[in-house]
Amino acid sequence: MTYDVACPICGRVNRRLYLEETEGWMECEYCGNSTQDLRFAKTRKIPVFRMDQLKELEIWLAATNA
Ligand SMILES: [Zn+2]
Repeated sequence: MTYDVACPICGRVNRRLYLEETEGWMECEYCGNSTQDLRFAKTRKIPVFRMDQLKELEIWLAATNA
């Protein structure tokens, strides 16, 4: 079973992802960001952003709000 998922970062749809095998993780083919769909997470750990990802998010938000 594969899934079509809209990237939460850029909003574009990534098609035919094997989310069950990756526990919900996908790397967006458009913007390159890795995100996790929590519906497929097997653990209850809260995903933690790495600092470099936060930096990218800040840059993206600054560009979007400009
Ligand atoms: Zn994206």
